[in-house]
Amino acid sequence: MKALETQFLTNTPQNINTAAEILKSGGLVGIPTETVYGLAANALNGSAVAKIFAAKGRPMDNPLIVHIADFDDIKRFGLVSEIPDSAKKLAKAFWPGPLTMIMKKSDIIPDEVSAGLDTVAIRFPSHPSAQAIIKAADVPLAAPSANLSGSPSPTTANHVMNDMNGRIDAVFDGGACSVGLESTVITLAAEVPRVLRPGGITVEMLKSVLGEVEVDNAVLHKLDDGQKAASPGMKYKHYAPKANVILLKCADNEYIKYVNAHADKSVAALCCDEDIPELNVKPYTLGRRNDYISQAHNLFDELRKIDKSGKIKTVYSRLPSTDGVGMAVYNRLIRAAGFEVIDLEKM
Ligand code: AMP
Ligand code: MG
Repeated sequence: MKALETQFLTNTPQNINTAAEILKSGGLVGIPTETVYGLAANALNGSAVAKIFAAKGRPMDNPLIVHIADFDDIKRFGLVSEIPDSAKKLAKAFWPGPLTMIMKKSDIIPDEVSAGLDTVAIRFPSHPSAQAIIKAADVPLAAPSANLSGSPSPTTANHVMNDMNGRIDAVFDGGACSVGLESTVITLAAEVPRVLRPGGITVEMLKSVLGEVEVDNAVLHKLDDGQKAASPGMKYKHYAPKANVILLKCADNEYIKYVNAHADKSVAALCCDEDIPELNVKPYTLGRRNDYISQAHNLFDELRKIDKSGKIKTVYSRLPSTDGVGMAVYNRLIRAAGFEVIDLEKM
């Protein structure tokens, strides 16, 4: 891949137009959203979208989310074959915001976006810069997270620069992401709406609008070899720092005991504020024990800090709760750990 000169665009109206021009002419721009930074290209231009996969090293069988700046953009750009009633209800409740809906796609969606599936994933982000860039470009934007494939998702423009400098045309700096974890993904193309990836919009919130909602088996469990993933992205080891992440299933005091028994300079704890006084290893805290929203917000930044330290080889974390936004933290951490869990309760 030929190295590009990556422009760092500060948050000005002029730079909104610069980003939009790059996107209209088939280039790649890292854009802020409220979830994580996205690596955007014109979703209706297959060869522009193909560049996203090359820049990230993303497997071609992993489809992308299409970002719009108004619910009516679905119709205006003709993205789907039919808008289900459930999509209208969810949009009314949660858009703009961290919810992605999967629907039957139309023929206008390039294969590069849908990775050969007959569906397309759509989201209307709430971040004002994301909305301004989409509106100025006047095209829907395909945008996966703007990290190298497999590594933690970026939640600041500097994270994007660390991974993508020389690989994309520009990064637009819209500040730190407020949610800090990728969107909730729900498919409306199944008989019963099903969550494929948990995020800031919780299963309980979705149920309050739709009634019945299922949670895909791959959200909390490792797929068996050969089992097909409803959401291709969920089958990979993902979100991982270079250090080895190990999850401990145990009571809070057992966690402290176990980590301290394994203490040395190459070991760190990805923990909660309450653990810090008791730990004998370097703590990287996600926030307070029951504050799942701040844990979600801090997770990727802490994983990147662990890498930056340069000397940490093993990170112990406890298996999080699956309540509310905790389910999203659980889903990311278990993939960061490559599904490695030590069950101290059984030992
Ligand atoms: P990313 O944009 O990197 O956060 O990843 C997008 C996630 O949405 C991945 O897990 C994809 O596999 C999933 N996804 C996108 N489009 C579809 C689709 N049409 N059907 C199922 N999953 C999808
Ligand atoms: Mg991603």
